[in-house]
Amino acid sequence: MSKIKVLWLSCVVLAIVMVLQFSLIYWLYPSRTTDQTQNLTIVLDAGHGGVDNGVIGKVTGVKESDLNLKITRLIEEQLKNRGVKVELTRKDYGGLYGTLAEGFKRRDMEKRRDIIRSVNPDLVISIHMNKFPMSYRSGPQAFFQKGDEDGMRFAQCMQSALNSFTGNTHISLSGDYYILQCVDKPSIIVECGFLSNADDEAKLNNETYRQQLSEHIVKGIFTYLYSL
Ligand SMILES: [Zn+2]
Repeated sequence: MSKIKVLWLSCVVLAIVMVLQFSLIYWLYPSRTTDQTQNLTIVLDAGHGGVDNGVIGKVTGVKESDLNLKITRLIEEQLKNRGVKVELTRKDYGGLYGTLAEGFKRRDMEKRRDIIRSVNPDLVISIHMNKFPMSYRSGPQAFFQKGDEDGMRFAQCMQSALNSFTGNTHISLSGDYYILQCVDKPSIIVECGFLSNADDEAKLNNETYRQQLSEHIVKGIFTYLYSL
């Protein structure tokens, strides 16, 4: 092969490699990732806290309030790593009600509302654990405020991410929730599992499971953002 042919072939190979490289970079880091996380603020609301334990695990006595905070912290870490600004309503195991005088639950909820309004976030996600009289009910589920179209789409995206993790076919459900009406932005509740179900309780007590679950909650957030 002549030197000119070798040189020509080398140029062609180099050009192909460069095109492939740029395609790969574009594929791995699509511009919308930057657009969708730039200046994005999300409030994570760990339900209950302090004397308000929420649901108690039937087998181990684990408190919903503790699990809520643990999962919230895992989601916070991943979102911050992706450049998202995150604000928490509850940052420790204490409640947000101030004193334990009468009406503490109402004050706790109002404090959450005030924090959410002061942050004026793009999205709100409240983290809870579920319970049901029949112990067979299991798996994480997303809830939205009845009549809120954006919240419904957000909950549907979240539910599909959760189902891809558990293999369930649950659908997101609507209801009337104080925490979802604090700001006029897509707001959902994620019930991470049923503490009335022994399998769910065992899983939620497991650190690896909580990490995996939190990764799928983050996946649900980005599935929604990419759908916009
Ligand atoms: Zn709860």
